[in-house]
Amino acid sequence: MSIARFWRETPRRYNLGGSKCTECGTIYFPPRAVCPACTRHRQSIEKMVPFQLSGSGEVLSYTVVHEAAEGFEMQVPYVIALVKTDEGPVLTGQVVDVEPDRVAIGLKVHATFRKLREEGKAGVIHYGYKFAPVDEPDRGPPSGPPAAAVPASSGARDRAPA
Ligand SMILES: [Zn+2]
Repeated sequence: MSIARFWRETPRRYNLGGSKCTECGTIYFPPRAVCPACTRHRQSIEKMVPFQLSGSGEVLSYTVVHEAAEGFEMQVPYVIALVKTDEGPVLTGQVVDVEPDRVAIGLKVHATFRKLREEGKAGVIHYGYKFAPVDEPDRGPPSGPPAAAVPASSGARDRAPA
């Protein structure tokens, strides 16, 4: 399967394609065929249209995972967060490109598409969305291990001789 076709066929994992109820305006991700808010009056039947989420949002809550699930062994510790998107739907995803101890409730993030996991040596690779901080002033290099791991709390920085 070509990469282009693969992307086309999985809009919700790759493009954050949700759906919007044109009756009440509620946006859903993953997309829904009917709107639960309108369903009792059957108003939402055939009123749902595709809706593209921007991928922007902020961290609602998060947890730092120290024990890796199978396939994530190289990534611990990592952060899984509930992200409230600007459009409303709450997504669950990994937060990347930031040290776990710098993730905080309210952190502005944006969806980015990354490798989620790799299955076995055959290398079936799953891609999907993760979240990266919108503003991370001292972000390290985009890939690879940190060049110089300086302890953040060494207590020795900027200490002038008395
Ligand atoms: Zn509705």
